[in-house]
Order: sequence, then C-alpha cells, then structure tokens
Amino acid sequence: MATSPSIAIIGAGFGGLTASIYLARAGARVTVYEQNSYPGGKAGVIHDSGFRFDAGPSLLTMPFVLRDIFTHAGKNIEDYLTLEKLQILCRYFYPDGTKLDAFSDTDRFAKEIDRVSDDTARQVHRYLVYCQKIYERTADLFLFKDFRQLKNLLTLSALKTLLSLHRIDPFRTMHSANASFFTDHKIIQLFDRYATYNGSNPYRVPATLNIIQHVEYNLGGYIVKEGIHRIPAALVEIARELGVSFCFDTKVNKIQYRDNSVTGIATDTSTTDYDYIVSDVDAGYTYTHLLDAAHGKETRRYFKQEPSSSALVYYWGIKGRTEQLETHNIYFSKNYRDEFNDIFTHRKCPDDPTVYVYISSRFNETDAPRGHENWFVMINTPFDSGQDWESETRRMRKIIIEKLSSALRKDIDAKIVFEKILTPLTIERQTGSLHGSLYGISSNSRFAAFLRQRNESKDWRNLYFCGGSAHPGGGIPLVILSGKITAGKIINRYGLR
Ligand SMILES: Cc1cc2nc3c(=O)[nH]c(=O)nc-3n(C[C@H](O)[C@H](O)[C@H](O)COP(=O)(O)OP(=O)(O)OC[C@H]3O[C@@H](n4cnc5c(N)ncnc54)[C@H](O)[C@@H]3O)c2cc1C
Repeated sequence: MATSPSIAIIGAGFGGLTASIYLARAGARVTVYEQNSYPGGKAGVIHDSGFRFDAGPSLLTMPFVLRDIFTHAGKNIEDYLTLEKLQILCRYFYPDGTKLDAFSDTDRFAKEIDRVSDDTARQVHRYLVYCQKIYERTADLFLFKDFRQLKNLLTLSALKTLLSLHRIDPFRTMHSANASFFTDHKIIQLFDRYATYNGSNPYRVPATLNIIQHVEYNLGGYIVKEGIHRIPAALVEIARELGVSFCFDTKVNKIQYRDNSVTGIATDTSTTDYDYIVSDVDAGYTYTHLLDAAHGKETRRYFKQEPSSSALVYYWGIKGRTEQLETHNIYFSKNYRDEFNDIFTHRKCPDDPTVYVYISSRFNETDAPRGHENWFVMINTPFDSGQDWESETRRMRKIIIEKLSSALRKDIDAKIVFEKILTPLTIERQTGSLHGSLYGISSNSRFAAFLRQRNESKDWRNLYFCGGSAHPGGGIPLVILSGKITAGKIINRYGLR
C-alpha cells in the first residue's frame, strides 16, 4: 500500500492504549478518541480530601504481559513504574472467625491451609499443579492468540489441546472441580472466588477457569507503588512518542458505515474517515449506541449471552489504623451459593455479600492523610437491569458496615471521614460498559470462551474489538493481550512492518 493506514481507536482503556502502541510502532497513523479527560477507563484514580484511591483494579497479575509493551516500544518499564510482588496476596476472614493468609510463597500458603482447615498442604500442592497444567495446555492458544484463526489451530500443541479437551477440564464447573480436591468448605470457597475475576458464577463457570489460580499463586500478584492509574498514564506517554494522536474529552457518537463496511467516526464537532476502527468500548455498547444492534448474526448472538456481574464500590477515608487488616482482604459470606443465586438468578445485591477491602495506604502512605487509611470496599452485584440502585446502595452500605464492624469489633461508620460510591450505573456512564457489567459477557457456560466478541468483527468489515468484552477476556493482562492480538490482525492484514 502507498500510505500507512489510518486507524481510529475508540477508548483509552488498557486495550485501546496497547493496540495504539503496537499499531503506531508498526507504522500506522493512529488517533485515540476518549470521552473522559483522562486515560485508563475503569482504571481511574480518585484524589479527594487528602485521600487517593485506585478507582478500579487493585491487583496486577501476569506483569510480563505489561512489560512486553514497554520492551516492544524500546522502553524500560522500571523508568515508569514500580511493580512489587505481594508477600501476602490476600487475608481471608470467615464468618466462623477463621483467619487465613494467602502467602505468595506457595509452601507457606499450603502450610497455612493445613493449619486452619481440614485440608492438607499436600492437597494444596496437588491442586496448584492441576491449575498449572490447565494453564500450560490453554494459555498459548486461548489467551495469547486468537484461537479461531485457522493458522493458530493448526499447530501441534493446539491440536493436542483440542484432541484431549477433557484435560483442560471444561466438562465440570469450577466449584465441582474444587470440591473434588478439597473437603473443607472454607478452602473450596477460597478457590471458587476466582470465578469473580471475570464476573462469573463458580457454580456454573467451567473448571478450565481454574487457570486464574495458577496465575495468582504460581505466577504472583503485584501492586503498582505509584497506583494502577499510572500504567495508562505511562502508556499514553509512550504512545505519544510513537506519534499517536489523542483526542480527550471527545465522545464518539457514531461509527459511520456503508453497506457492511465501517468507514469513519462522528463526534459532536467532526466526522472523519478512517481505514480501520478499533473499539475498546464494551462490544454491547458499541453495537447498541455506535452501530446498528440488529445488524448481523454475530451481533445478535452476542446479545443472547448473559452479561457479567457488576460491582458496588465504597471509597472510604477511615480515621485511625486497623491492625487486623492487610493490603488486600476478603470477608467471606456464610453461604456462597446463595450469594451467587442472588447475583445471577434473583439479580439483586446479596443479603450476605462477600466484602473486599483494599488499602493502598499500607504500601503508599501518601495515599491517606496522617492517622488515616483509604479503604476501597467492594462487593459483587448483578449487572444493571433496572434495580433501584439508590436504595440498594443504602441497603448494602448498612449491611457492609454491620459486617465489618462486628468482625473488627469497632464502629466503622463512626470512622468514615470521606465517602464516594461507584455503582453499576456510574460504571456504565464513566466507561460505556453496557449494564455496568465489568467484563462484557459472563463465562457462565461451557462455550463462553467461544462466544466472546471476536477481535475482528464478522459482521462489519474493517471493525475490530479489544478490551474486556472481547477475546480473550477481562482483567488487565487479558485486556492488554486483546489489544495486542487486535493490533496484530490489522498489521498482518495491511502488511505493515
Ligand atoms: C471496580 C473494579 C475492580 C477491578 N479490579 C481488577 C483487578 O484487581 N485486577 C484486574 O486485572 N482487573 C480488574 N478490573 C478489570 C479491569 O479494570 C478492566 O478489565 C480493564 O481496565 C478494562 O480495560 P478496557 O480496555 O476494556 O477499557 P475500559 O476501562 O472499559 O475503558 C473503555 C474506555 O472507553 C471510553 N469510551 C466509552 N465510550 C466511548 C465513546 N463513545 N467515545 C469515546 N470514548 C469512549 C471510556 O471512557 C473508557 O475510558 C476491575 C474493574 C473494576 C471496575
């Protein structure tokens, strides 16, 4: 081709920023349109009243995936970010008073489970080997590549995986698999929790997703000392150096198309033609608001899938220090099955929610004024289907405060000096995630991985998708991979360097 292709990327989330860097590095002319004044989408930041909160993600896994972007752009990640491996991944608290530390040293973790439960260290090691094997059999094909592309399917390792599918455990649920390894309900609950990392239900999600436990326990969990929002800020800096143009505070209102081909984008102030369009915005939102939702087979099939769960987050500035807490903490519910029935079947916030408390001022003391802590308190909720979120937010606040006050033996309400709240409605408004779903569609079916939005649209020529709703899925590392896979497809198609 005579000139390099022009590409519009809608959304400066992790997926869009990654795609922009790989595409610009390959010589494309890239413009990123972002409706907010800041990059990062769900990974925003709140600065208020002397407190700083990571607005969304708090834990980084598979850091090598992030490191790859910097290396590809000829940069040193250490010049931008300080990544630190957590020694205690999470402190778990159970309703019966049990406290369990998930050490990142797997020997210590296994001993801890041995100490507090009916299960043994040996069982834990056996389980983590099982999770690792699923990862080894699936990651290359299902995470790092587009498994629907013929050339990726026709490799020896892909064929091996496909010919012995049972070895990646897709025929039973995460919960049944975990219950076959452990007898103590507390340990089963701990490992079932990982279904929530992609907004799903452990009683329905295929056991293949037990790869997440391998990622966290065997590969490690990390914090970003400066705050997670510094990652998108660094990616913008690098993208700009590579020639990417950014239009912040610029909402794309429509993707222009002719017949079955997308041709450009329209904002409030302009209409611009592009050779390719990459949407980093939730696929459901892209179809509903930017295109024609009734258009094609793939689009219609997408809307038949169950959306993933959403979240309520309370950002609390707390007076004093609570010694019992670690950086990451989980207060489990009594009955996990009831909790997920509430979320996915009754579509209401759980009466007894599992509560996550994350305190970044534990590793970065400037995140809270002296003598205070910044608590990010989150519960899983249903996606928005018309619930009264104002009253749900009040109801859940009371339940959470009672739960934490009773467990910590102090009046938490009296300690709150700052408060801000994120609901499924604000998630949708701030990031364009339809219904406030955190990860597009849920993985609550055996075929979910095959039904996720493709990176290259089948319905629309020249339209591509990255981000949490597209292949390979949500969460920072997978979203980065989605941006990389998408960029790779355009680069191959256009014959860029
Ligand atoms: C509360 C919470 C906790 C989480 N915790 C973790 C965690 O601990 N670890 C982890 O790995 N992941 C976590 N995640 C998930 C992770 O944050 C996401 O998977 C990831 O950040 C999504 O990136 P994305 O590229 O899909 O884009 P998004 O972050 O969804 O961004 C999309 C961007 O598109 C923009 N946009 C939307 N519509 C338009 C339009 N019409 N025109 C222009 N711009 C538009 C939005 O403003 C936004 O910036 C969490 C998410 C949330 C919300």
